[in-house]
Amino acid sequence: MTERRDELAANLQRVRERIDAACADAGRSPEELTLVVVTKFFPASDVALLADLGVTDVAENRHQEAGEKVASLDPDVRRRLAVHFVGQLQSNKAAAVTRYADVVQSVDRAKIARALDRAAGERDHPLEVTVQVDLSGDDAGRGGVRPADLPALVEEVAGLEHLRLRGLMAVAPLGADPAPAFDTLAELAESTRRDHPDATWMSAGMSGDLEQAIAAGATHLRVGSAILGSRPAQR
Ligand SMILES: *Cc1c(COP(=O)(O)O)cnc(C)c1O
Repeated sequence: MTERRDELAANLQRVRERIDAACADAGRSPEELTLVVVTKFFPASDVALLADLGVTDVAENRHQEAGEKVASLDPDVRRRLAVHFVGQLQSNKAAAVTRYADVVQSVDRAKIARALDRAAGERDHPLEVTVQVDLSGDDAGRGGVRPADLPALVEEVAGLEHLRLRGLMAVAPLGADPAPAFDTLAELAESTRRDHPDATWMSAGMSGDLEQAIAAGATHLRVGSAILGSRPAQR
């Protein structure tokens, strides 16, 4: 356990140095960035170690795994963390996700938004959400609303009583230079913010492309393998 703690501490340190360097290059302050550590495929014991190392935000992308893992956390650890859900979501799972998630980043259709809103209405506080944008330009099925359909979905989400629209999220297209995709996301985030001043988040940047995301203006990074190590192959 202390070995794992040391490993996670060293990896976190390396990622924080990368963030600091990218911020220096971009003329930004690291305080503008929230590091969300993606813990999918790794046990609740790792989540507890990360919380102990100062991590404030974690993310999961598979509903079943996430529900069980979050439920098994020590209440003290759970209280110190914001839990984000970043995976593809079915509307019949929305209610269950709102029971353990503080944030759902992967809202990409009106049907999901309405299901989350109904479920969040059962809680005593709104659910924070970001709308996921598909930057691939094709239908690769990695989730996300196409940019042309984004304004309508943003209006829908903003009008729902129990959701709080915080901004946009995207994954860079596979195998392409992420920079132009992140610039597109930044433009979409900017125009979203014009009508919805609360929507200040731009969630972009993972282990392999966090520097490009910071250069483009990301506010939330979602970093998994650079901190936890490589995942088993079956994604
Ligand atoms: C797994 C995952 C990440 C983290 O990816 P890494 O390359 O391991 O940093 C980020 N965002 C989403 C949506 C993910 O599913």
